[in-house]
Amino acid sequence: STPLSPTPTAQSEALFARARAVTPGGVNSPVRAFRSVGGTPRFIREAHGAYLTDADGARYLDYIGSWGPMILGHDHPAVREAVAGALQGGTSFGAPSWREVELAELVTRLTGADKVRFTSSGTEATMSALRLARGFTSQHGTGRKFIVKFRGNYHGHADGLLVEAGSGLMTNAAGHLGTSAPSSAGVPEEYAALTLVCEYNDPAALDTLMELRGHEIAAVIFEPVVGNAGVLIPTPDFLAALHRVKEAGALLIADEVMTGFRLSLSGASGLLGIRPDLSCWGKIIGGGLPVGAYGGRADVMEFVSPQGPVYQAGTLSGNPLAMAAGLATLRALEADPDIYPRLESYTSRLAQGLKDAARDAGIPISVNQIGSMLTAFHQDAPHGSVGNYTQAARSDTAAFAAWFQAMLGQGIYWAPSQFESIFVSGAHTVSELDATLEAARHAYRSVSEG
Ligand code: PMP
Repeated sequence: STPLSPTPTAQSEALFARARAVTPGGVNSPVRAFRSVGGTPRFIREAHGAYLTDADGARYLDYIGSWGPMILGHDHPAVREAVAGALQGGTSFGAPSWREVELAELVTRLTGADKVRFTSSGTEATMSALRLARGFTSQHGTGRKFIVKFRGNYHGHADGLLVEAGSGLMTNAAGHLGTSAPSSAGVPEEYAALTLVCEYNDPAALDTLMELRGHEIAAVIFEPVVGNAGVLIPTPDFLAALHRVKEAGALLIADEVMTGFRLSLSGASGLLGIRPDLSCWGKIIGGGLPVGAYGGRADVMEFVSPQGPVYQAGTLSGNPLAMAAGLATLRALEADPDIYPRLESYTSRLAQGLKDAARDAGIPISVNQIGSMLTAFHQDAPHGSVGNYTQAARSDTAAFAAWFQAMLGQGIYWAPSQFESIFVSGAHTVSELDATLEAARHAYRSVSEG
């Protein structure tokens, strides 16, 4: 049987101490700090395929995939060669270059967007898409200032989007949530007041809001499958209500930063039949290098500077290394027609195995899974029934933390928060899934034994 002995952490601890002296919390993005699960965050030395190796030389089977980008696994040969090739030609030009054209052609062809603009992060993509929506709708009306988002959805850290937001905000600052207040200090109430919040999967609430305030609303932004409150899957009724917001003159913005090229080559929108006016991408389109993008209807995108009056720019936007990594990743996905069905079947095998293992140990969990995204909420609810932030927040985070540590001790690196998705990649194999499920059995048993 698999030992539950803790892995060595001396080197990670030493690095973490140095990091805390020079960086807030010792990390450059909050969820990396293990705040909600405890213990020492592992400082990663290198990553290949489905595995991470940390500073102490311990090897972990990785279910984070850099929070989504590494759908092909780490250090994929095609991506490595493409980046190495681009590197020969210099790393940034501040002038247009051919790879940006090729990636834009590929993204528009796969997603159905007419035009696309590249940024350097998902945050910039959503922030820019909302500015564009306000600029565009105001030309056709009386100055629509408001946007609508959903409780527990995360769209990056632009001021107006840090309102009842998910991801690290849900694990680190849960006390701030449940009101319409900003979920971060430093966001003026005046900004937050321009963001209206609805519960996810509540079509009646959205319809009512649009009836009352529709004429003031520039855009409704949503995660077409939520990853940032844990995985939440939209109901057909909710998707129908989202499409109705267009009738009020608001733009529908699908934030596919996590789901784009993850759930299908045409994202969650292609999979679920969503027809947004604009979409945002990130993560996979950069193949593990810093990229974001937004795009959609030509008449809307033509409002973007220098063609139109809505300003948006970036020193490193369209960076040749990032474009090369994105191109190699999307081409590899397109060249493997089996990859999405395989990811789906592997992840549903994982889902079934977790359900069985938890049940046998007497640990209540409720699993949401779609394609290669999965969250096992530690709560006693039917599988697939957790549909919004309020339900997700009922999870037993202490039980999750204990289970997470038991997995980590067996070399399985799960997402270090109850309110995140895990990601299966093309580098995971059946034998790794089975080893994961074996470890999960031990972990659930150790949780039930306290
Ligand atoms: N939108 C969604 C749906 C995301 O999951 C994220 C990041 N996890 C973002 C936006 C922000 O992207 P970035 O971290 O690249 O700024």
